[in-house]
Amino acid sequence: MKFAQSLLGWYLRHRRDLPWRRTRDPYRIWISEVMLQQTRAQAVIPYYEKFLERFPTVEALAGAAEQEVLAAWSGLGYYSRARNLRKTAQEIVSAGGFPRDYEAMRELPGIGPYTAAAIASIAFGGPHAVLDGNVMRVIARLENDSSDIGASQTRERFTRIAQGLLDPKQPGDFNQAMMELGATVCLPRAPQCLLCPVARECRALAEGTVEQLPVKLRKAAQERIEQTLVLIEQDGRLLAWQRPSDAGRMAGFWELPDGGQLPGVLLGKTLGHFRHTITRHLYLFTVRAGAVPRAPRGFFWLGRADIRTIPLSTTARKALRAAGRFPGLVDKL
Ligand code: SF4
Repeated sequence: MKFAQSLLGWYLRHRRDLPWRRTRDPYRIWISEVMLQQTRAQAVIPYYEKFLERFPTVEALAGAAEQEVLAAWSGLGYYSRARNLRKTAQEIVSAGGFPRDYEAMRELPGIGPYTAAAIASIAFGGPHAVLDGNVMRVIARLENDSSDIGASQTRERFTRIAQGLLDPKQPGDFNQAMMELGATVCLPRAPQCLLCPVARECRALAEGTVEQLPVKLRKAAQERIEQTLVLIEQDGRLLAWQRPSDAGRMAGFWELPDGGQLPGVLLGKTLGHFRHTITRHLYLFTVRAGAVPRAPRGFFWLGRADIRTIPLSTTARKALRAAGRFPGLVDKL
């Protein structure tokens, strides 16, 4: 517990005075945690105060119209979070109030492991360690661990380490102290190790690897591929081909031809553009009008009734939508 003592002693002396640190109301802590996921603490303060003035209780938020909630959230961005807050508030109210323990909070659709651990520990003293980006950085350096912090196994291991360090008597203060250390001392660049209360326990400092940690591997670069699909119409029907039943991908689905499949095609004007991602490939499609004297072997003319019933590939749907053809049939992607 020496680690926890050093950290908590420092936190009590140096913590920033932030409005959500003056309450143990789970609702207020929840709102602050959601706002802090996307914005720095100082910038959150005015939004937090305004939001709680307008919706002082979970009941007030649950009973508000969505437009009102979005208006109070305005400026913070990530509006899906505001919508989810309101929906989760409605679930909390219909369940009879804010749950007190971690597992019950995790049952709520809008509350993930980080937020549940933060509320359970700060509002109710539950022994659950939080793991956010700041805590990940602190742990990677304390342990001199160069694993990829984007990997789920690393997150799981770091959660266990944070849980092992946690002071179960003061879990709320301990969690906030870890996050505060990451936010104000153990900074991503130029960490203030001379001021760090746990420098003696820090393996990265001892090994001289602080600046190299944490490690976050970049995802493999996406490959961009440009392709043209040809929209050929005749008497209200569309030229298409079907993938064979033993095709490795999208077997049995219907596709529009690409330029290379139709020797002698006459290409006309551009009808639209769209993007489509398949694993690491980003396809940038252009849809062009085209004409052929007759349907080549393996191609068929599809009417409106066919398009309604056949399995049409997502790219074909997107192409028809980009070109403004068959509205009502290809809206759902
Ligand atoms: Fe972070 Fe430096 Fe403290 Fe280690 S000694 S935890 S690197 S601030």
